Amino acid sequence: MQLDNASLEQLREWESQLATQYQAILAQKLNLDLTRGKPSAEQLSLSDALDGILAGNYTAADGTDTRNYGGLDGLPEAKQLGANIMDVDAGNVLVGGNSSLTLMFQVMLAAYQFGLKDAASAWKHEGEVKFICPVPGYDRHYTVCEQLGIKMITVPMTSTGPDMDAVEALVKSDTSIKGMWCVPKYSNPTGVVYSDETVERIAKLGLLASANFRVFWDNAYSVHDLIDNAPKLANILEATRRHGTEDSVVQFASTSKITHAGSGVAFVAASAANLAGIKKFLNTCTIGPDKVNQIRHTRFLPSKEALTAHMTKHAALLNPRFEAVLSALSKAFDGTDLGAWEKPVGGYFVSFDTRRGCAKETVRLAAEAGVKLTPAGATYPYGKDPEDRNIRIAPSVPTVPEVIGAMEVFVTCVKLASVRNAIT
Ligand code: PLP
Repeated sequence: MQLDNASLEQLREWESQLATQYQAILAQKLNLDLTRGKPSAEQLSLSDALDGILAGNYTAADGTDTRNYGGLDGLPEAKQLGANIMDVDAGNVLVGGNSSLTLMFQVMLAAYQFGLKDAASAWKHEGEVKFICPVPGYDRHYTVCEQLGIKMITVPMTSTGPDMDAVEALVKSDTSIKGMWCVPKYSNPTGVVYSDETVERIAKLGLLASANFRVFWDNAYSVHDLIDNAPKLANILEATRRHGTEDSVVQFASTSKITHAGSGVAFVAASAANLAGIKKFLNTCTIGPDKVNQIRHTRFLPSKEALTAHMTKHAALLNPRFEAVLSALSKAFDGTDLGAWEKPVGGYFVSFDTRRGCAKETVRLAAEAGVKLTPAGATYPYGKDPEDRNIRIAPSVPTVPEVIGAMEVFVTCVKLASVRNAIT
């Protein structure tokens, strides 16, 4: 199907065929959900051994009684777990509570209100504060900025990461830009892994940007590969060390999609100066994180090898779901002008770009036919996709037959919305 050169008569014929197919789908009264990216119950069960793993032994390797207060930056072995996940030294890691999003919000708030370096470095002294947001991206990053009144400036995502020419031009020309969101591996939602060149250029942004610039490097999917020999993300901490910009990047990760989402452990990795600033802030929020949960996790995932073996089990469950999505898209849209998508080999999402002005209508048609999709626009700041093109598909929770069924509906809705859009 090529819409660009199709005659009106041809479009009308397609519309009528697709409308018939759509009516048949409506009659099935489906109830399927491809919305939030969370682990399935089967995936969660992979970590059920966490329950009872301590068998009464609450003592950490350094003798700490994990049941008591204290340990603001985390147990040494939990720092090592974070280091294994983020590919950094344990000395650069701080271990938080159950959510990396909370840590991101706290670090953003600390940088804005109190300064990560000192009081004078707080962004609030600088008038308007702006953040670069590669789009499409993660909606909850945007709500963090929105909550703090930080203005979001979008740059396009490409197949190698954010458009770095655009990013560099922005940070050079606008001193109110104080940072940038990045999901560098299996980006939410496009699934792209930043290329070595992109990582290198991001590591050098600290040389171009105004003072107190911070990249928020949300490595939520660092070990979430679906294939052997998965692409390797270049090490940003090493790159910043080479360029003398170590303070310009703060990294985040968690075990949310490794063990039990919502009751995992979250991590920050940063320079000594940034860690000091973050700790000063956290010290006013808490007497210490949940070290009992930290030690449960370190006993469950005691080494890099254990982590890799565990993630292979996740991949076995996720792979057929991703294959179902990608093969449905290929079958329906290869060689057409109806949409574009990446083929992720990890993470939680497939991102589909419709023709201009067709995403909302596709999501509406799918919802009416019993297939819930993330609202169109959610992958853009303020919920506004200027071209109304992007739809995020999250296949982890439904069963494989359900994903197959949902994708049949999805492709029909894309086609119907596209043909109707071309007619009008
Ligand atoms: N960062 C990204 C990119 C995500 O996709 C998600 C969850 O979907 C999170 C962070 C949430 O992480 P956490 O559960 O550690 O707060």
